[in-house]
Formats: sequence, structure tokens, C-alpha cells
Amino acid sequence: MAKITRKIKTITVNADKCNGCRTCEVMCSAYHSTPRYSTVNTARARIHVTTHRLKNIWLPVFAGDYTRSECGCRDQYVLGGKEYSECSFCRAACPSRDLFKEPDSGLPLKCDMCEGEESPLCVQWCLNDVLTYQEREEEVEESPVMGDLEMGLEPLVDRYGLEKLTSSLIRLSQKD
Ligand code: SF4
Ligand code: SF4
Repeated sequence: MAKITRKIKTITVNADKCNGCRTCEVMCSAYHSTPRYSTVNTARARIHVTTHRLKNIWLPVFAGDYTRSECGCRDQYVLGGKEYSECSFCRAACPSRDLFKEPDSGLPLKCDMCEGEESPLCVQWCLNDVLTYQEREEEVEESPVMGDLEMGLEPLVDRYGLEKLTSSLIRLSQKD
């Protein structure tokens, strides 16, 4: 398979510096509202700060890919004297929890790195320097990249089936 150079965008997290202010969640949801900055609803944010105040845990996690089945892992990790469940680090919108899903439709949300901005909003607004944006170039094998439309359709196909979804789309296209 042919190799191509792809720009990889990442955000590194220094969770020890996080104070759980959740400004990152607020800014992410405001940026992604329509029209932009019209509303704030942190349930729509593509970043979630896992919070356990009594255990002194604040852990920002970014929404990753949608997955149709939940995993079987329920391990616990102790890092720096703090205990985390495996789900604390997971980025997936999965069937076993409500995280990273549109509250009304249940459709999955995914971090898009604030496409079009010079740097992500959550990084710009985190005043504690928890989040650091990085770009690098990598040689990867050329493979089809799923566009926003396909990513949005995948969970609908899982929920309603391809046949029902297709007939709904045809009906919609025939409406005046
Ligand atoms: S804005 Fe920064 S300090 Fe506040 S919750 Fe988010 S990552 Fe933590
Ligand atoms: S990079 Fe943008 S889309 Fe991703 S979590 Fe941060 S504010 Fe949200």
C-alpha cells in the first residue's frame, strides 16, 4: 500500500496540574454550538474532566471514536497513589455509558481538534497549562479516512438498520 505524509494533531495532558475548573468543557461546548458561542452545555463537550474530589482526581479526557460494543475490561490502576478505573482513560463513545454522546439524540461526539482554529479552544482557555497542543508529520499507509458524514451515519445504521435508514432518507428526499 502507498505511503503518504499525514499531519498528526495531538493534545498532551498533565493531569497533575488540573484543578477541575471545567473551563475546557465550557469552551468546547460553546465553540461547537450553532451558531458558534450561542449556548453552553457541557454535556455536549468533546472533552470531559473525570472528577473525584475526595480522591483529589481531575482527569481531562478527549472524545475519540464511536464503538458499537462495550469492552470487557474493568481493571483498576494506581498511578501516583491515585486509583483510577480503566474507563477513566477511555475516549470511546460506547454503549455502557452516556459520555461523549449528544444528550438529545444519543449520537456520538468526537473531538475534531477545533478544525479551522489555530489552536484548540480547550488548550487556549486552560489557564493552568494542563493541555499542550502538538502537531507532527508521520508517514502512514494510505487508507480511506472516514468523513464526518460517514461517522455520523455509522451509529444511525447500528441503531435503526441500513434498510430502515435508507428508506427514511429516500422519504426525506421526496418531501417538498
Ligand atoms: S480548563 Fe484546564 S484546569 Fe480547568 S478542568 Fe480543563 S484541563 Fe483542568
Ligand atoms: S480540541 Fe476542540 S473539539 Fe477537541 S476537546 Fe478541545 S475544544 Fe473540544
